[in-house]
Amino acid sequence: MDVNRGIEVGLENIPRTKVDRLEELTETRWQELANCVESDPNIFFPENKKDDREAKEICKQCDVRTECLEFSLQTNQEVGIWGGKNEDERRRMRRQLRVSGI
Ligand code: SF4
Repeated sequence: MDVNRGIEVGLENIPRTKVDRLEELTETRWQELANCVESDPNIFFPENKKDDREAKEICKQCDVRTECLEFSLQTNQEVGIWGGKNEDERRRMRRQLRVSGI
């Protein structure tokens, strides 16, 4: 694994320089390209966290899925579906990143 490029988490490499990348993500305003922009937000924040199928289907078609997931990891979003991943999946990814020292 090339630690300078981050670790593989299933979509893209998570960048090592979190602050730089967060600033970049904010500047690019990726949210404007979000596939969920006109969706019911309750789909992405279901009462039962197991009800994530509909949100994940929308995320699958989203052009900014990677950016969304990176943003959620870097800003420690605790609830909801972000980048096609639910909170449990993101928690595992964050743990993996911590173990890798990224
Ligand atoms: S990946 Fe999913 S939650 Fe993120 S912007 Fe796209 S549709 Fe919305």
